[in-house]
Amino acid sequence: MSISKNLSDIQAIINKNAQEHGRDPSQVSLVAVSKRQSDAAIRDALDSGHRIFGENRVQEAQAHWMMHRQSGNYTDLILHLIGPLQTNKVKDAVALFDVIETLDREKLARALGKEMQKQERQLPCFIQVNTGEEAQKSGVYPSDLEEFYAFCVRECGLDVTGLMCIPPIDEPAAMHFGLLNRLTHNLGLTHLSMGMSADYPKAVALGATYIRVGTGIFGVRSDTN
Ligand SMILES: *Cc1c(COP(=O)(O)O)cnc(C)c1O
Repeated sequence: MSISKNLSDIQAIINKNAQEHGRDPSQVSLVAVSKRQSDAAIRDALDSGHRIFGENRVQEAQAHWMMHRQSGNYTDLILHLIGPLQTNKVKDAVALFDVIETLDREKLARALGKEMQKQERQLPCFIQVNTGEEAQKSGVYPSDLEEFYAFCVRECGLDVTGLMCIPPIDEPAAMHFGLLNRLTHNLGLTHLSMGMSADYPKAVALGATYIRVGTGIFGVRSDTN
């Protein structure tokens, strides 16, 4: 299996789906989800020119990416945090990542606002929306979104530029992608992060500006979850 070929195959599908739906393919970015992948696999993706990656744990992201950041070889590297963020990890997250996709509660918004000011790093943030209103899942309910967005921007000074969702596994993803699209436009935001290995073509059709693909690029992860 070739990571380079997977990346170009996925890019071709993005291009095709975007064009078929009257969208400019350059408006869709592929976030390569490198969680629980080997350093060699990550290096393959870097060698093939890919620069946007997603990680769901701060500590693992540091292990994967600190050396590449410090090497100075990849000045255009962009790291997205796509997993839940504990407030005690906010300092490390703000130092390492470029985009926070999982803004999901007031306490976190406050902590991020403070830390970004302290480090003078104003990172773009996406609010994670729990479109399926699943009790066990992170994210703001659609009905609370407007108020939470206003809180993040006005009270915490965060640069909220988009929304992100992880649809329920037992429902058609398209319904949730459509909902996220409407919510994004209602708030006048630019970015929609939605779609994973199994459903990204549909997400592109429904307006995604970031898709998050892991196994489709790297193959199965070192354990399942
Ligand atoms: C792991 C993960 C992905 C990637 O999932 P694949 O099915 O491997 O493409 C995307 N988004 C989030 C939030 C994830 O945790």
